[in-house]
Amino acid sequence: MDNSTQILPQNDESALKYYLSWVAWPGLFALCMTLTGIGFAFGAPMTAFIFSYILLILSLFFLERFMPHEREWQEPDGQTFADIAHTLTTKGTVHTLFLFAGVIGLTEIFRPATADGYGIFGAELWPRGWPMFFQVAFAVVIAEFMCYWSHRTAHEIPVLWRFHAVHHSVTRLWFVNTGRFHFMDSLYRVLMGMIPLALLGAPMEVLQWLSAVTAFIGMLTHCNVEMRFGWISYVFNTPGLHRWHHSRDIREGNKNYGENVVIWDMLFGTYINPQDRRPPADIGIGEFMPAKFTHQLLWPFLSKEKRKEFRAKATGIGKRKAG
Ligand SMILES: [Zn+2]
Ligand SMILES: [Zn+2]
Repeated sequence: MDNSTQILPQNDESALKYYLSWVAWPGLFALCMTLTGIGFAFGAPMTAFIFSYILLILSLFFLERFMPHEREWQEPDGQTFADIAHTLTTKGTVHTLFLFAGVIGLTEIFRPATADGYGIFGAELWPRGWPMFFQVAFAVVIAEFMCYWSHRTAHEIPVLWRFHAVHHSVTRLWFVNTGRFHFMDSLYRVLMGMIPLALLGAPMEVLQWLSAVTAFIGMLTHCNVEMRFGWISYVFNTPGLHRWHHSRDIREGNKNYGENVVIWDMLFGTYINPQDRRPPADIGIGEFMPAKFTHQLLWPFLSKEKRKEFRAKATGIGKRKAG
């Protein structure tokens, strides 16, 4: 699976860094999942999740400095404020949506007259009898099918790409740009992912687990830490796979759409995991994106002429390179 350059320690790599590179991904993921599981057992899943999430952020903050994957990605890109602002706007929008869905009684549509479960067909479709591990795994795979197609269409349909380009306009990857999505892009993905789960009547505990898994894997996926993955990249979405997805070359960028797992990429022929070369350090998009957060929010809504005008002005003062 891996060639020797990836498996063996590199010349400038200490034994500690080498072993850490193998255990970082599975170790951090297992730690976060275990802590969240303890939270569920003691009736405080939210507290445990937040604690795990902060622990993960601190670990990645340290590892990105101790053993970076790309040293040049450590340089500031002037997008930290925009990264955080997009993260907060997106999270706020998704929360408001769920609150609103509750207020107008949308969730009631899915509640059957009898049975204590949900499900638009009024029947118990969700396999509630399964052990929680299998229910969560089932939810991940089912939601992922929709996430896969919403992500893939966001790349292949121009009007959707306008929104998704905000995420891909970064020129470096690090844990801070995990949540950098235009809020419309996130809404599209979250709603699509929720549809099959709502139809099947997935219980709240499964939805909470799914959110936790997505948050942990997403944060790991964008980190700038030198890690090795082996078989893990054939099951889960890892930084090793996602770095190809951020390539400027669309033969590589329009691949690896999976958010948590790679099963749908494999089935639909968009899985790549080259072993004979490193993913590109020079990432980004082949088109212009404004540097300011507020401009990035408006950008996808502007007409072609307005965008042209804006671009001419912005590149004229050399704020950000166009390509
Ligand atoms: Zn993408
Ligand atoms: Zn990404």
